[in-house]
Amino acid sequence: MHRYHKSVVGILLVFMFLFIATTMAGTNAVVTEANLEPPTVCPEVPVLNYHKIDTMQIALSVAPEEFDKQMRYLSENGYHTVTPDQLFKALKKGIPLPDKPILITFDDGYEDNYVNAYPILKKYNFTATFFVITDFISHDPRFMTWDQVKEMAESGFTIGSHTVNHVPLTELNADQITTELTVSSQKLEQELGARPRYFAYPTGTYNDEIRHLVQKAGYKMAFTVRYGQADSDSNFYSIERIPIFRTQHTFRSFFIRVKAAPILERLGLIRN
Ligand SMILES: [Zn+2]
Repeated sequence: MHRYHKSVVGILLVFMFLFIATTMAGTNAVVTEANLEPPTVCPEVPVLNYHKIDTMQIALSVAPEEFDKQMRYLSENGYHTVTPDQLFKALKKGIPLPDKPILITFDDGYEDNYVNAYPILKKYNFTATFFVITDFISHDPRFMTWDQVKEMAESGFTIGSHTVNHVPLTELNADQITTELTVSSQKLEQELGARPRYFAYPTGTYNDEIRHLVQKAGYKMAFTVRYGQADSDSNFYSIERIPIFRTQHTFRSFFIRVKAAPILERLGLIRN
């Protein structure tokens, strides 16, 4: 009997030792990992980049029903659209973002953005950002009018600059670049009553000097077409985006790009 008790106590002791050992090993692993990782103040935020929302059979055009399907997917899967201001504050000051934040952007300012995308975005209670080419607005019928841009700005959508003429900035000298940056900013301020704080590079091209000029012109962040997500490692003047194009299987491509970006980024495959 005594002998039996002793072995039970022995077995219990072994179990207790194993339990404590595994718990401590677990704790150690967590502490070690935390020490290796940089402090994260901002979650990874996918920034989607669209151009046209219409039925033209070109890569830049996503059909309205496809766009609706993509927005429905985001809505049903708990994504919350954020503004560039929210992203900026999260990156700069660690101000928390809603769950599953996503920033939706459009480049160039095509008329279909107002006619097709805007009603769909409103239907899902989403917000978005439109980077417009100021000399094309109200001049070229393929692009929006100032009244349309104004209406979206007044509904809480963000309007950013995409320069005056859409010339790739790498083809211009410093004075010409500054003119593109400041004249588009002045025009937006004159039309909308507020200075634009966000900028998107025409054709996505930039270099260190251009980034500096964008900062000097008073913009807080600039967006590229470099594939990736915005996070604490992002440079404010070269924020990554996820371009969404029309393909043979637009929704599947959209889904893969939105879902795969965090994984590819964690693996270090889409930072360069
Ligand atoms: Zn563009």
